[in-house]
Amino acid sequence: MKNPFENAMQQLQNAADVVEIGEGVLELLQKPQRIHEIAIPVKMDNGKLKTFRGYRVQYNNARGPYKGGIRFHPAVDIDEVKALSFWMAIKCAVVGLPYGGAKGGVEVNPKELSKRELQELSRGYVRGLYLEIGPNIDIPAPDVYTNEQVMGWMMDQYSLLKGYTSPGSFTGKPVEIGGITARATATARGGFTLLERIIEQSNKKPQETRIAIQGFGNAGYVFAQLAYDAGYKIVGVSDSRGAIVSKNGKCINPYKLLELKQEKGKIYCDKSVCDSKEYKEATNEELLVMDCNVLVPAAIENQITEKNASDVKAETIIELANGPTTPEADEILYKNNVIVVPDVLANAGGVTASYFEWSQNIQNTSWSESETNRKLAEIMIESYENVYDTAKKYDIDYRKASFVLAIERITQAMEGRGWV
Ligand code: NAD
Repeated sequence: MKNPFENAMQQLQNAADVVEIGEGVLELLQKPQRIHEIAIPVKMDNGKLKTFRGYRVQYNNARGPYKGGIRFHPAVDIDEVKALSFWMAIKCAVVGLPYGGAKGGVEVNPKELSKRELQELSRGYVRGLYLEIGPNIDIPAPDVYTNEQVMGWMMDQYSLLKGYTSPGSFTGKPVEIGGITARATATARGGFTLLERIIEQSNKKPQETRIAIQGFGNAGYVFAQLAYDAGYKIVGVSDSRGAIVSKNGKCINPYKLLELKQEKGKIYCDKSVCDSKEYKEATNEELLVMDCNVLVPAAIENQITEKNASDVKAETIIELANGPTTPEADEILYKNNVIVVPDVLANAGGVTASYFEWSQNIQNTSWSESETNRKLAEIMIESYENVYDTAKKYDIDYRKASFVLAIERITQAMEGRGWV
């Protein structure tokens, strides 16, 4: 299987095959502007010193400051971070935000670290990179296995190094220090807004729509809750340990699963959705091809590949995860008339809410949660319509359409600046 950056470059080439992109422009878009690789020393609880590898890739800032999350995961590597930073540049352009794209990561299993060690690691990441980031340069946010607590520590460390409090340096922070309530639910809410639009357009009813969700973290469980509350039938859910699927057509209750997973005082939980005895156990592989109408990958990359794409039963895929579908799988799904709402559109609610948080931070103002959610829905629907129109215009799938739209916008910004 190709690495995520090779897949990302294939997606770029697929868009370049649809619309004219100058040779020099394409070459520029095939390379990140800056790559930072750092060593982060942490004094562990056992007294020993351990060094972790960290990355920040700043892909393109033609449209505005770099923007993108930081991932703590044992499988983080430079190709993954490069791909994620490229997708951020595309995503911000698809939804029309005044940002470029970046991404960061640390190669670590955070579940093996104590709270103190994790704080040291988070502060060490900022010490290694603080000259390269900031509210007008590059604004990080949470991603897989990082959360608002990690953002709080990082914002504090950045502020300590600068000598003044800088809430606009990180988004996804705790509400008490400049975060916004709507940020935690925004990724899922944005994707859910699009699901509602698609169901409405196809004259279906939520009660008749069966949903399977891979990943029960921030993106996956909030989506499950929104869908459950609106009357959709959740028939499968998974996390890194495995999956559960409904027995005798019974809808899975995400609230009960969340109660089971939540452990007081812990940053990461060891419990899994599989600990619930109410449902049937399955594997993640089985969940992806199970009988359902809508599949929501909300975990990691490269899950739907040429090996399992033709077995996918869902009619619609809403990609809350980044990069869950390979380009080869995309071709198969398109031929099988599966609608794929691509990551760069489906999960853009997260960065859109981050933009709202940052805007409020730098202007010292605050909006109500309902106002924020209304603006989020407006941007998601407008972006979906733009992608839909582009797909119809060129007779292409939504991913290619999103890339075409984004590349046109990034190119216009680069032209405006006189880069190309
Ligand atoms: P999270 O850390 O809160 O949750 C990740 C979930 O994925 C967990 O349930 C974990 O058990 C599961 N998981 C990890 N490895 C797995 C594997 N090998 N197989 C199956 N499940 C596995 O992370 P999150 O914030 O929910 O992010 C999930 C995805 O959504 C990522 O691809 C992320 O880049 C993307 N995303 C998140 C946001 C956001 O705001 N949180 C925004 C945009 C995109």
